[in-house]
Amino acid sequence: MTQPASPDESAVRLAAVRKLISRAAGDAGRKSAEVTLVAVSKTFPAEAIAPVLVAGQRVFGENRVQEAKAKWPALKQQFSDVELHLIGPLQSNKAREAVEFFEQIETLDRPKLAAALADAIQKTGRHPELLVQVNTGAEAQKGGILPGEADAFLARCRDEFHLKIKGLMCIPPVEDPPSPHFALLARIAARNGLSTLSMGMSADFAAAIQCGATQVRIGSAIFGVR
Ligand SMILES: *Cc1c(COP(=O)(O)O)cnc(C)c1O
Repeated sequence: MTQPASPDESAVRLAAVRKLISRAAGDAGRKSAEVTLVAVSKTFPAEAIAPVLVAGQRVFGENRVQEAKAKWPALKQQFSDVELHLIGPLQSNKAREAVEFFEQIETLDRPKLAAALADAIQKTGRHPELLVQVNTGAEAQKGGILPGEADAFLARCRDEFHLKIKGLMCIPPVEDPPSPHFALLARIAARNGLSTLSMGMSADFAAAIQCGATQVRIGSAIFGVR
């Protein structure tokens, strides 16, 4: 686990990030209420997360099921209205745990996982929001449906697995200018009638908001370096 920034520091950073989100939204002719801040708390311990909760933040992203299950139940006893997003790769054999634990799963990226999630939803009666991850840069090491296969995969999620998909998520290649990737994700969402776009991290969230992001996933700008 990473050393937490001092509590005051993370609350100040959170306020600064919120201000930058408002400014980017205003700059794009959008309302800041259209953009949900997902505070990415992966690798940070509960003591580092608590001050951000106290400062009013309620939506958090974690990239591992086990880590989230170890950290969050105690925090949720104090802050019961927390909303947790899974933003990391999900193994099919952990689909049920993820469905039970998260309010949103952002990383649905293959038919086998779609089948496992459909089964878990049916068995548990829990319905987390689901986003399909698109590998906009077609990177071999990254999860996500290829852009050219996204329409067919979304149709399959609906028709074969009877899953309700809320939107799309992407992580552009670090070496590329991000905006063309954000614009591509926005086009795929628009032609499939999807309203939620999870895109933009600490380094590029203003560009993502310009391209229509409705969720930004921000870690280091709030919690410090990992
Ligand atoms: C870690 C992570 C983030 C946050 O990245 P920062 O650069 O720290 O803001 C966002 N999205 C995903 C999928 C991540 O894994």
